[in-house]
Amino acid sequence: MTVSKIQAIRYARHERKAAENFIGGDDHASDMPLDYYVWAIHRDGAPPIVVDTGFGAEAAERRGRTLLRPVDQALRAAGVDPAAVEDVIVTHMHYDHAGSLDLFPNARFHIQDREMAFCTGRAMGHGVMRAAFDVEPVTQMVRRIFADRVKFHDGSATLFEGVRVHHVGGHTAGLQIVEVATARGTVVLASDAAHLYANLVRRIPFPIVVDVAVYLDALDRIRAMAPSIRHIIPGHDPLVLALFPAEEGRKDVVRVDLAPLDWPEELQ
Ligand SMILES: [Zn+2]
Repeated sequence: MTVSKIQAIRYARHERKAAENFIGGDDHASDMPLDYYVWAIHRDGAPPIVVDTGFGAEAAERRGRTLLRPVDQALRAAGVDPAAVEDVIVTHMHYDHAGSLDLFPNARFHIQDREMAFCTGRAMGHGVMRAAFDVEPVTQMVRRIFADRVKFHDGSATLFEGVRVHHVGGHTAGLQIVEVATARGTVVLASDAAHLYANLVRRIPFPIVVDVAVYLDALDRIRAMAPSIRHIIPGHDPLVLALFPAEEGRKDVVRVDLAPLDWPEELQ
């Protein structure tokens, strides 16, 4: 069983200034919006694996994000039936990655030990640390542990042939990334190890970070894992939609298992 394709599926957007995306700000007052994605790893002869669950209408409203399309509809439009999904990799427990666990009634959720300890432990006693976490998804994940629907990982693990997770931390204590073997080589779904290609290239973290040194080490590990920057898929970059080939007939779904159609010279 091998990976046949990987989709990046956009479901939401947040208009913002560049200064909001880098520790220490940015000299330019330019717009630098974030897109919100979930990813689907398709395999021959097995249900797709979904990476992250996105958030719903209530969180979008409360946090001022624009929900372009509810995640379940976005998945269906990409050919993924959420009820048929048996495995969901949760890269970390932030609201925009773990906010729709209930869309997957038959799934097992893959998470790092350190992330679950982090989002249920003393760090959440600090307002600034819990700002990007919502209590409901965290509570829902605890319920799934009690229902035998969570698979914990500690570091690196092979989930399926061609699909591995690795703990990297930095952005959150237990952030994991996904390494996928594709026809064009290893593709790394970096999630929020880098929100944007610019975080990766400038080597300046996104301002939500628990350990800056660990964040920077994670960038090095991802670089070492991927054959080129074109094989790294950041968590929130609108460039992903712009650079990779669109799934036929879809403007919010791109194939990141395929080579990008174009590449900006400054992104190396
Ligand atoms: Zn995020």
